Amino acid sequence: MAQDRRGLLLILSSPSGAGKSTLTKMLMAWDASMRFSVSATTRKPRAGEADGRDYFFRSRDAFEGMVAAGEMLEHAEVFGNFYGTPKSPVEANMREGRDTVFDIDWQGGQQIRNSALGGDVVSIFVLPPSIAELDRRLRSRGQDSDEVIAGRMAKSRDEISHWAEYDYVLINEDLGDTFERLKTILTAERLRRTRQPMLNDFVRGLNKEFLAR
Ligand code: 5GP
Repeated sequence: MAQDRRGLLLILSSPSGAGKSTLTKMLMAWDASMRFSVSATTRKPRAGEADGRDYFFRSRDAFEGMVAAGEMLEHAEVFGNFYGTPKSPVEANMREGRDTVFDIDWQGGQQIRNSALGGDVVSIFVLPPSIAELDRRLRSRGQDSDEVIAGRMAKSRDEISHWAEYDYVLINEDLGDTFERLKTILTAERLRRTRQPMLNDFVRGLNKEFLAR
């Protein structure tokens, strides 16, 4: 159910393999009112990925058309492919008071933070406990070739260099613990005064009660 408050934009970034996608899925299962921002990408689908659920898989031409039409909230090149966030679902979520979760890289995070929606952003960076563990997790997925994995490790270093641009940083040693901390952040951020516009009316009501005494 949508809340009687302003929806926030929860941006999760991390090097791939740090556990961000799993944490995102856990969050969506925990709170059905949240909406995952399905990105558009020019990369090919991996086994098990569905168009419209994991990504909108688009040709380079179609992607560039969306950018030219002003339909993207942000877009960036990652691993030689283009990725971008369609704007209209995010705007609809905000109108409905729903929180939106973004699994995007630091470039996307920067663009949304610097946009008109910047005040609605809560950004979290997820770090792996070590680089050896990051390497192990990437290989255990068994989805990518050695060459692709080597490319991702190089990109990881670049991604991690942006950790200090985020509001919160989680070291994902244990998935269950990390998820607990993620829920704590979200719960506190939802309670910010600025995210509860109904407080004005509520306090007005309290004042009426004072006057009636
Ligand atoms: P993957 O190809 O492994 O699904 O994602 C590669 C990287 O692209 C990840 O770091 C992911 O967070 C990032 N990414 C996914 N969607 C978007 C998007 O819409 N915008 C940006 N800037 N990055 C994205």
